Amino acid sequence: LINPIARPEVTQELSENVILTTVDDLHNWARLSSLWPLMYGTACCFIEFAALIGSRFDFDRFGLVPRSSPRQADLIITAGTITMKYAPILVRLYEQMPEPKYVIAMGACTITGGMFSADSPTAVRGVDKLIPVDVYMPGCPPRPEAVIDAIIKLRKKISNDAIQERGQIKQSHRYYTRQHN
Ligand code: SF4
Repeated sequence: LINPIARPEVTQELSENVILTTVDDLHNWARLSSLWPLMYGTACCFIEFAALIGSRFDFDRFGLVPRSSPRQADLIITAGTITMKYAPILVRLYEQMPEPKYVIAMGACTITGGMFSADSPTAVRGVDKLIPVDVYMPGCPPRPEAVIDAIIKLRKKISNDAIQERGQIKQSHRYYTRQHN
């Protein structure tokens, strides 16, 4: 044992160089600082998402690095209308992403079917019928600032994640996905 009265310099050195935390907090800090979104877009919302990659909005500062392969991505921002024909492809892309993974639903079309919800026979009315959504971002289209806001909300959500609980949620949803396709 170190006597803090006899060795004050040791106590100070410990307080400056030793960090106490939990495994969950360390794991979450690493994940929320390095989200890699899939380069994914099916309609006009993607133009606003693409604007984020440029220097004006500079979303790299959040540690986001766009990926072309779902196997290298842990975030999918569903930007654009989803049709019935395209739905199985979206589910397959999602399933190819490694855990832990996250979904931001971008725009009215992905959240409710948007302007296609009234009479289109081909639009999916809610991406959450296919894959689990972590953050909903309304708008037509949402501006790049709204995408940044959604990413900040997702980072807050990740910071409260527990590794064990997250796995359980995914398993139950996978069952749901298979039942409805
Ligand atoms: Fe286009 Fe609006 Fe639908 Fe986005 S929500 S894909 S901007 S119609």
